[in-house]
Amino acid sequence: KLSGLPHHKRLDEFDYAFQPDLEPRKIRDLATLEFVRAKSNIALLGPPGVGKTMLAVGLAVAACQAGFSIYFTTLDDLVRRLRTAETTGRFNRQLQTYLRPSVLVVDEVGYLPLDRDEANMLFQLVSRRYERGSLIITSNKSFVEWGSVLGDEVLATAILDRLLHHCDVITINGPSYRLKDHHALVNDP
Ligand code: ADP
Ligand code: MG
Repeated sequence: KLSGLPHHKRLDEFDYAFQPDLEPRKIRDLATLEFVRAKSNIALLGPPGVGKTMLAVGLAVAACQAGFSIYFTTLDDLVRRLRTAETTGRFNRQLQTYLRPSVLVVDEVGYLPLDRDEANMLFQLVSRRYERGSLIITSNKSFVEWGSVLGDEVLATAILDRLLHHCDVITINGPSYRLKDHHALVNDP
């Protein structure tokens, strides 16, 4: 099911010329979906607008088209739903929603800080998916900043330990595609 995805731009619509530091081969390797079979993870890091969500969605859609189950969520939405579920005694049931799919996309780690309970929920999720299913995360924060995002260095280390054990880390340090036309306006005489 493709519902719930933010947009349906395909992987092959990604303009690599706009992001010269990103090797096209890296994304094409990931698009073979070997990471799904290996139950390993992908981390897409970089500032806003560089295409992290587009690539995460593109890889998830490719997995879906190959017959794998996928689920897309932002971290914010995930913790909000788990919190609500906890107050109504449905925490484990809601957690299953995030454990079942072969590929789980957790978008936008780092935009909003988590409190300790929420960081704990993320830890439970990551440790229970560890070596059982693929996780694709996107973040505007480097891993060293995760301690302050999660409000707890020990939990952040435990989460990163499992997340990064089998993980392709793609760092995109380039211009924002959203501001592309603004730059053109500024630079054109
Ligand atoms: P991020 O998640 O890194 O903030 P997005 O993936 O949401 O960025 O990208 C912002 C917008 O720009 C989206 O509409 C996306 O499809 C588009 N976009 C970003 N990078 C590229 C690119 N290299 N080629 C084509 N479209 C892009
Ligand atoms: Mg995004």
